[in-house]
Amino acid sequence: MTLPPDRVMKEAISSKDPSRDGQFFYGMVGTGIFCKPSCTSNQIDLEKLEFFRTIKDATQAGYQPCKACLLNPDWAGSISLIKIARYIEDHADEKLTLSSLSGMAGVSPSRLQRAFKKAFGVSPKSYQDAIRIQMFKYFLRKKSGSITEAIYDSGFGSISRVYGEESRSLGMQPKSYKAGGAGEVIFYACRDTTYGLVLMAATGKGVCFLQFGQQKQSLLTALSTEFPKAELICSPAQEAPELDNWIDAVNLHLSNGAPKPDLPLDMQGTAFQIKVWKFLLSIKEGDTLSYGEVANQIGRPTAFRSVATACAKNRIAVLIPCHRVLRGDGSLGGYRWGSERKQALLDMEKQRQRD
Ligand SMILES: [Zn+2]
Repeated sequence: MTLPPDRVMKEAISSKDPSRDGQFFYGMVGTGIFCKPSCTSNQIDLEKLEFFRTIKDATQAGYQPCKACLLNPDWAGSISLIKIARYIEDHADEKLTLSSLSGMAGVSPSRLQRAFKKAFGVSPKSYQDAIRIQMFKYFLRKKSGSITEAIYDSGFGSISRVYGEESRSLGMQPKSYKAGGAGEVIFYACRDTTYGLVLMAATGKGVCFLQFGQQKQSLLTALSTEFPKAELICSPAQEAPELDNWIDAVNLHLSNGAPKPDLPLDMQGTAFQIKVWKFLLSIKEGDTLSYGEVANQIGRPTAFRSVATACAKNRIAVLIPCHRVLRGDGSLGGYRWGSERKQALLDMEKQRQRD
C-alpha cells in the first residue's frame, strides 16, 4: 500500500498536523508504540520512525497503539476501536455502515462516530475512503508500471496477475448496475487529445468510461448521468499519474499509430450488453462487421437491433471498438461521439493495415 512521501509524513509529524490523520501511522523504533500524525505526547526523533499505511500493518510489525492518541481514554471500548479500524481496513472495498460498525462495538452510531474521530482524527467513513483511495492508486500503479514498455511490449501481463483474467473484463450484475454505481469510487481525468477533449474514468477494476466531447462540463455531466450514485473524484495529474498515462496511451494510439492499449476495463451493463462488448473486443483492427453479423456471432441472430443499442450504449470509446460495427448496407450507422469521429477512426485503422 502506498504512503505519502517521507518528507510529507515527517513534516506532518513535526507540525502534528491533524489533516494527515487517517492517511498513515508512525511507529517509534525502540519503543514499540505507534501513533497517528497529530499525536502530541511524544518527543520524536524523526530519524527513528517507521511508517505504516494501516493499523494492521503497524500491529503486524509488532507495534502497539499509543495510549495517548489511539486508545482514546474517554472511550471505555478503546481496544475495540482499534478492532473496528482494522475491520474497516480488511473490508474497505465493501459497503460498511455506521450502524453495523457500531453494532459490532456495542454502542450507538453517534457514540462510535465521535469516539472514532477522536481516536483516529477521521470518521469511520473517511477512514474507509482513505484506505480505498490508496488501494485504488496501488492497483493502478501496479498495473501501469512503465506504461510504454508494459502496454506495447508485453500485452500488459501484470493485469492478469493483479485482477485475474476473469475480472479484467468483469461486468457488474444488471442489478448492481441499476444502482448507478452506488458505493463505488470513480476517478476521472479530462485531457486534450488528437481527437478532441477526452474524459477517462476508472474504478478499482479498470476503465469504466471514456468519452470524447467539446467541453469538460458536458463530459462531466455525462459521467455523472451514467454513474449518478458513485463518488466521483477528479484525479489531479500530480497525485494520480496513472490515468494520465492511460490517456496518453490512448492518444498515442489515435495519433501515432501505436497499438490499441490493452487497459483493464470495468464494463458495467446488462448481461446482454456485456456479451456484445466482449465480442467487440475480438474484432480486429481494420475489420468491420454489421450489426446483424455481430448478432449472428454471439448466437442471437434476430437481436441485431439490440446489438445496435448495445453499441450505442458503449461508454468506453475506442477501447471497446464499437466503431467497427456498421449498418448491413455498409453505411456508417450511428456513433455516440459523432459519425465524423467514427469515420476518422475507421480510416485510420484501414490506413494502418495498408502501411
Ligand atoms: Zn500517540
